Amino acid sequence: MTTYACAHAVTPEGLVDDVAIEVDDGIISSVTRGLPVGPDVVDLGDVTVVPGFVDMHVHGGGSYSFSEGPQAATRAAAFHLQHGTTSLLASLASASLDDLAEQTVQLRPLVDAGVLAGLHLEGPFLNECRRGAHNPVLLMDPDVDWLLSVLGNGVKMVTLAPELEGGLDSIRAITAAGVVAALGHSDATYEQAVEAIEAGVRVGTHLFNGMRPPHHREPGAVLALMRDPRVTVELISDGVHLHRALLASVLLAAGPSRVALITDAISATGMPDGLHELAGSQVRVTDGVAELADGSSLAGSTLTMDDALRNTVNADVPFVDAVVAASTTPARTLGLHDRGSIAAGLRADLVALDPEFRVRAVMQAGTLVTNPSEAQVNS
Ligand SMILES: [Zn+2]
Repeated sequence: MTTYACAHAVTPEGLVDDVAIEVDDGIISSVTRGLPVGPDVVDLGDVTVVPGFVDMHVHGGGSYSFSEGPQAATRAAAFHLQHGTTSLLASLASASLDDLAEQTVQLRPLVDAGVLAGLHLEGPFLNECRRGAHNPVLLMDPDVDWLLSVLGNGVKMVTLAPELEGGLDSIRAITAAGVVAALGHSDATYEQAVEAIEAGVRVGTHLFNGMRPPHHREPGAVLALMRDPRVTVELISDGVHLHRALLASVLLAAGPSRVALITDAISATGMPDGLHELAGSQVRVTDGVAELADGSSLAGSTLTMDDALRNTVNADVPFVDAVVAASTTPARTLGLHDRGSIAAGLRADLVALDPEFRVRAVMQAGTLVTNPSEAQVNS
């Protein structure tokens, strides 16, 4: 058993000072006020400890892509762990049904081992007119039988366009299997999106991006997703995909308990600018912005969750709200009830931030995975 003394921490009560977090066998055994002393006390100093980040939409990082198999996936997860992401869904972009099924089979052992919190299928059941960086050749109408054959391989979330033929039936099948149905890369109208939510959609995939832009007479899926209290909306807080005013407004309107900050990061994350690859398409990264090489679309991001948190705070979102959106809400949305907050009985997934909100240390299930000097270099 070890007790961590920290100057500040974000707990379910909010931002509190002088907190002792007791960790026993990977689990938080108590959270108390006041700074303890004793042989088992580790003083973390002037840091703010927040719950480990949960990224429910990420394709890769550190030059590795989750679609490249278990070894690359392990390294991509390790890259994001250095940035405070203690749980993530490995997002698999559109591919042929055979290739995608094979990817899920390959990655399933990592889900069973807890290296990945699950898999996220982003495609190929997407609307071509809102495809973003997805290869149009691969897109198709939803295939319920295929979905049922792969969901058991550790799949936790499926993004699809509900307006496609078979879309609503697929949403019902996904939901009945205990998997999260997400609306994304969709041209759904407001009414179609309302219908999709009734059928079971509980997540809006990178709200605004890959969707019909809201119009005051046809507000599209964006408003349907924002207004329904059952839905969590993903936001890419990189300052590129969304204007900071929009980011702050969505957090204010929906509240942090319904917003999940995501990275949508690709393998190029943490790598120098230049040419990279995403699901078979060439991607050019310029000043950290990833676009298809022909410039026709953004192609994911090079964001990490610590940057997402800082960008959100810089958009004038209260710090505690940003933390809830980075950790607590995505954990709850994915049914990861053993994590997402600093509270007794939960997994000891902790991130210590310096006064500038840079990562100083990361703990995953009670194991310290980052030393401060390393984190400084990587952040
Ligand atoms: Zn994505």
